[in-house]
Amino acid sequence: MNTRKVSIVPPEEFSNLKFQPAPESSVGLPAVTSAMKHISEEIGIIDGLKVINKMNQHGGFDCPGCAWPDPDHERSALGEYCENGAKAIAEEATKKRVNTDFFSTHNVEEMSDWSDYQIGKSGRITEPFYMAKDSSHYQPISWEEAFSKIGKKLKSLDNPNEAAFYTSGRTSNEAAFMYQLFAREFGTNNLPDCSNMCHESSGTGLSKTLGIGKGSVTLEDIHQSELVVVIGQNPGTNHPRMLMALEKCKQNGGAIVSINPIHEVGTNVFIDPQNPLKILKGGTKLEDLYIQVKINGDVALLKATLLLMLKAEEDRPGTVFDHDFIERKCDNYQEFIHHLRESDFGTCVQESGLTEIEVRQFADLLISKKKIIFCWAMGLTQHENGVENVQEIVNILLLKGSIGKPGAGTCPVRGHSNVQGDRTMGIWEKPKEAFLAKLDEQFGISSPRKHGFDTVETIRAMDAEQIKVFISMGGNFISATPDSQFTGEAMKKCELTVQISTKLNRSHLVTGDEAIILPCLSRSESDLQNGKQQFVTTENSMGVIQKSEGTFEPASPQLLSEPAIVAGIAQTTLSKSKTNWQEMILNYDTIRNHIEAVIPGFENYNSRVRKKGGFYLPNGARSGEFNTESQKAVFTINPLPKNTIDANHFVLMTIRSHDQFNTTIYGMHDRYRGIHNERRVLLMNPKDMQKHGFEKEQVVHLTSHYGKETREARNFKIIPYNIAKGCLGAYFPETNVLVPINHVARESNTPASKFIAVSVST
Ligand code: SF4
Repeated sequence: MNTRKVSIVPPEEFSNLKFQPAPESSVGLPAVTSAMKHISEEIGIIDGLKVINKMNQHGGFDCPGCAWPDPDHERSALGEYCENGAKAIAEEATKKRVNTDFFSTHNVEEMSDWSDYQIGKSGRITEPFYMAKDSSHYQPISWEEAFSKIGKKLKSLDNPNEAAFYTSGRTSNEAAFMYQLFAREFGTNNLPDCSNMCHESSGTGLSKTLGIGKGSVTLEDIHQSELVVVIGQNPGTNHPRMLMALEKCKQNGGAIVSINPIHEVGTNVFIDPQNPLKILKGGTKLEDLYIQVKINGDVALLKATLLLMLKAEEDRPGTVFDHDFIERKCDNYQEFIHHLRESDFGTCVQESGLTEIEVRQFADLLISKKKIIFCWAMGLTQHENGVENVQEIVNILLLKGSIGKPGAGTCPVRGHSNVQGDRTMGIWEKPKEAFLAKLDEQFGISSPRKHGFDTVETIRAMDAEQIKVFISMGGNFISATPDSQFTGEAMKKCELTVQISTKLNRSHLVTGDEAIILPCLSRSESDLQNGKQQFVTTENSMGVIQKSEGTFEPASPQLLSEPAIVAGIAQTTLSKSKTNWQEMILNYDTIRNHIEAVIPGFENYNSRVRKKGGFYLPNGARSGEFNTESQKAVFTINPLPKNTIDANHFVLMTIRSHDQFNTTIYGMHDRYRGIHNERRVLLMNPKDMQKHGFEKEQVVHLTSHYGKETREARNFKIIPYNIAKGCLGAYFPETNVLVPINHVARESNTPASKFIAVSVST
């Protein structure tokens, strides 16, 4: 293990907290002002507007932010982006540079004492860098030397499973396909990804019940729905353009329910910044009902609701459940109903943290509507029972026949622009046999069949010194993963870590013995191969494959594209490879032809993706076909979670600020919650503050408890907030240190970052 003295967690220091009451509406002019401020600071208004006006437009590039879809056909000339999309572009098109001068001035020990915000603001990395085992300074290295070092190290391993190849959701389909091909040709399925930490519970629960691990709805379905339930999700900050879709749903007569321990302004009132009338009149009230469920009270709420639906169906047979759909399309109905009858309504209501009146209001909406959509995100998936949460939603939709028809279905909203596409391309530690067989046939290779490590397993394997080489295609592994201290120490045990990145982050500072940074092109930048302009493709949250073409000048002439970097590593590592890596990078159509040959749904890929708006991948659940073992949708039995914690403890959930996208901290404000210039805050219900004798802005420390294990994060200021009693909210990555590595969701292994038992001390 290297002996560099680097800080794995952000400094536990305060900035300059200013707390105001949260605003009553989201977006509107403040969002425009904030977007322009970020653009002007990083790029300058004129250059910035040139770039941003190409984002999410036909012929332009895909937003590197979240995976919310663009309209299928017409795009707004005023801009198809949100405030946070603008911030994402400001970050990647910044004029600041991390170059040789930068690294000769700053060593990694010094930089690791910076906040993640400061590290991220350093700018774009301009050339490859290498840090030797006995050094704490990065030095420039040529691409040839960098590839050669990586190839040599990989070839020296006793076993290909001593390497892990991580992917973040920024990676394009083309790069992801090449990357997994390389890993498998090399001989391992160690392909952990960011999906393991977010929507893995959705994929697992949906695959089991509906036969596809993706959502079933389209944007048009949301517009047409009679009832959209937004549960465990904060679209105002994390998927802002979703608010426009919710507004359309409202305009068409639909109702919206928001279920969240924190009452978020985003789902309350939305002001469309492109509509002057709305700006003047004060916007659209989105929520018809807000339900302040306690953290992990979702299954209890859904079960109590199901009991009320069952009662209504028994009172008025045939008016609540869709029996025709259930009989034709579903399995396990009788067993499910039998179990449901055994559930106690009073216990379920109590465990949800709600009143019976609130549960009945929600149930009444579900009883009376026929076209229902559930949207969700990490608030549901990052629990021990994350898979069960998703399955209980499916139970409701199946009873209502609300799947496989317009205006109805499942909508797990993905947080990173191509996280769904990367999985489609085969970035998965548990690949299906049919996929591997096709891959082998297409490339004449023998892919390993043994399953690889997911993210949590990779960290444990690093700790056990089973993983010696860790390569990261994008992302910020150290700040994204749970149990920061444990993960950082595990990472330091690796012999070589490689980061393929656009910007500096903490994962470049907490490294293995040797570390290499390979800088790549960003989405908005022109990708020329052999003098010819290339484009890549991505898949959004609703399964649309679309073209993304950057046309702006790269931040440095020394940058390579992600596909070219994969090819460079593959060519130096796989000396006997029969794969023509060079041909693939000279013309990305070649990569897409291979994808078409291996993955179903990509017929005529190159021609269809060139059409405006791209094309939809097949989706059985969307068309009412369920590719489960029985070819039917499956009702599941999901026990009530046992949320037992010590009487003096709270349940903490990690959250993002409004100036944050995953681990990227764009700024120090959380405008929608009225919090400014500070990230070390702890949202607490005023009644809990009173009960425990805490004052506003009092400094406290957090200790998490998991079995006999404890972990600590110091220095947070208490903010009185509209959050469910007994619950706390605090930002990640600052609180990732409190998430135990072994506290994960059953089946999906997703870290339980939304249920951390903590004590609060002064
Ligand atoms: S909603 Fe998501 S994809 Fe759309 S502009 Fe905003 S961050 Fe980008």
